[in-house]
Amino acid sequence: LFSGRVDFLLSAPQLKFLPEPTVPEIAFCGRSNVGKSSLLNAITGRKAIARASVTPGRTQELNIFEVGDPTLFRLVDMPGYGFAKAPVKVVEKWKSLVKTYLRGRQVLNRTLMLVDSRHGLKDVDREMMKMLDETAVSYRIVLTKADKIKASALDAVAAKTAEEMAKHPAAFPELHITSAEKGMGIEELRAAVLGDAGV
Ligand code: GDP
Repeated sequence: LFSGRVDFLLSAPQLKFLPEPTVPEIAFCGRSNVGKSSLLNAITGRKAIARASVTPGRTQELNIFEVGDPTLFRLVDMPGYGFAKAPVKVVEKWKSLVKTYLRGRQVLNRTLMLVDSRHGLKDVDREMMKMLDETAVSYRIVLTKADKIKASALDAVAAKTAEEMAKHPAAFPELHITSAEKGMGIEELRAAVLGDAGV
């Protein structure tokens, strides 16, 4: 499917700019610089469908991509979070956009929350998990940049993350370990996304 049509549709600074909810959506979220653009590019097999990160905090919009012709589902690139110097106003705006999207978007089938393998879950990720729990949006956790740490350290982070996930009602039980750089875990994640989209 990803070898067919994958197009950027639009950036929505507010929910009213979103397309009609006619097809399933799969959303991607994570801290700024987690490797979200790289993962989206790897999953879709495109070099630069998702822009690599610009200035942290500037991309405060939902970027929508369409897959299939006619469109079968959409990928939603949510604005990155957790950058240290973000003004309160920016954080509030982010929260309101993301929360209303999660709560109100009936076609949202699954969210993928990306976590840097080297860092594991941070408090901002825990806040995100809480928001996903509260809005009853089922989510996967995807460890990124797995090529950047040793296998033993990766095992430890994966075990710790899985343990914490088990306490969250909306977390999908399986954890994904990926490297966009090396292609690790990408095929499996792609299949999971297609499954989530119901295609
Ligand atoms: P975003 O801000 O979450 O969209 O993150 P990007 O995709 O722009 O990636 C942030 C940085 O991490 C860039 O310098 C990427 O080259 C790097 N990066 C992303 N994925 C990987 C990966 O799987 N392995 C390695 N080694 N670096 C990665």
